[in-house]
Amino acid sequence: MTKKERMAGVIQILKNTVRSDCALEFNGDPFRLAVMARLSAQCTDARVNIVSHDLFKKYPNAHDMAEADITELENLIKPCGLYRTKAKSLKEMSVSLEEKHGGKIPSDMESLLALSGVGRKIANLIRGDLYGLGGVVADTHCIRICGRLGFYPETLKDAVKVEKILTPLIPKEEQTDLCHRLVWFGRDTCTARNPKCNGCPLAKFCKHNENI
Ligand code: SF4
Repeated sequence: MTKKERMAGVIQILKNTVRSDCALEFNGDPFRLAVMARLSAQCTDARVNIVSHDLFKKYPNAHDMAEADITELENLIKPCGLYRTKAKSLKEMSVSLEEKHGGKIPSDMESLLALSGVGRKIANLIRGDLYGLGGVVADTHCIRICGRLGFYPETLKDAVKVEKILTPLIPKEEQTDLCHRLVWFGRDTCTARNPKCNGCPLAKFCKHNENI
């Protein structure tokens, strides 16, 4: 079986067993998604969802966040960790959105990557969820699970390399949903420690499972 065929099998099984919604509760608001994706670095999506509640009451859009008092912004996002760096980049991102994009979130990769704190992972999430343009979101779950499944060595942790390897294996129209499913699957079944391999629906495709 080729890697592409194996990936097709994985996609089909996850489609039948795992939800495909975004774990970040951004309520369809593009600005919220961009901010929440930035906050989620080294933080759980659940915590980001909680913190975002008060954050967006105070700063509901790019215009308001661009004018935020940096200390107030830091305090609001403190529970997410790395709060000084994140506050600085959120403010810078908001200023750029206001100055260059009329407060809206752009869709082209180049403009997204030019925003402070936005790398390929966030850019692909935005392009997929907001604009239906697909893109592999190589986050920690995707990297870990697809490594275990044997699409590349389990030791590979470089998000850009993972994205490059996975992109040709996954049809464009499946990329966004698959990456969301991998997040839920990574939380519930293929967890970082002690994955639940017994009874895992992907076991027959999994190299990690073959080796234990
Ligand atoms: S068999 Fe185990 S390692 Fe493989 S995908 Fe399932 S839970 Fe993850």
